[in-house]
Amino acid sequence: MVRIDLHLHSSASDGTDPPAEVMRRARAAGVDVVALTDHDTTAGLAEAARALPAGLTLVPGVELSSLMDSRSVHLLGYLFDTADPDLAAEFAKIRESRRDRARGMVARLRALGVPVTWQQVTRIAAGGTVGRPHVARAMLDSGAISQFDEAFTKDWIAPGGRAYVDRYAPTPARAIGLVRAAGGVTALAHPRAGRGGSWLPRERIAELAAAGLAAVEVDHPDQNHEQRAELRREASELGLLALGSSDDHGSLTGHRIGCETTSQEVYERLVALANGANPIPGPPT
Ligand SMILES: [Zn+2]
Ligand SMILES: [Zn+2]
Repeated sequence: MVRIDLHLHSSASDGTDPPAEVMRRARAAGVDVVALTDHDTTAGLAEAARALPAGLTLVPGVELSSLMDSRSVHLLGYLFDTADPDLAAEFAKIRESRRDRARGMVARLRALGVPVTWQQVTRIAAGGTVGRPHVARAMLDSGAISQFDEAFTKDWIAPGGRAYVDRYAPTPARAIGLVRAAGGVTALAHPRAGRGGSWLPRERIAELAAAGLAAVEVDHPDQNHEQRAELRREASELGLLALGSSDDHGSLTGHRIGCETTSQEVYERLVALANGANPIPGPPT
């Protein structure tokens, strides 16, 4: 049986392990096909491809931030042309805005008496795309909170929270269009996981399907049994493929590569929909 996990993060965004280490861990976890999907960047893909262990195939990917009615919507993009100038420009714009907003959140936290600094946050991000998880880790280190998840409440940096700052993100329809124009396919990530107001009702998913969405992440660690059953039914009604993936962030989420997987049949259908890039096989076993 082929084990496929199409949603992983490395230190190129907010994962804790470098891309090469993520590939090594994937193989060690018995996974055969992985997608590296860092937030708004493809910077980790070259290192991951170079480090592929024997028997592991890499699907080049990204997790794109988008906004729909001020809800944060995460889209997984796969097998697009990474050199596409429109897509690269959009990634740059999103990353720049993420940086500005993280700086803004640090300023607000300091005004609230939390002793975090911008240097601390960039040190934690270690050159990767700066995100709220890096700010949350700085808050944890400063002792302002005692658990990572406490940062993502209205008290702190959840949308509408005291230290929250807005940022630019494209609409999901625009993001889906850009990935398609670059030859790729998109999947909607964890639409019922809820954190940060990202819960999406069926009508919204239907709109995204009409805009060219190909798949929905159904089996995700932050979606419970009922949510998965509901999503699986909606995906089938809307003609969307149902994915399963770990959304591993290294030690940040607990090492969990391969804890949820996508079937080989669904994977092959997804690959057949893309023509911007090919999966990259590792050396033969
Ligand atoms: Zn996500
Ligand atoms: Zn993710």
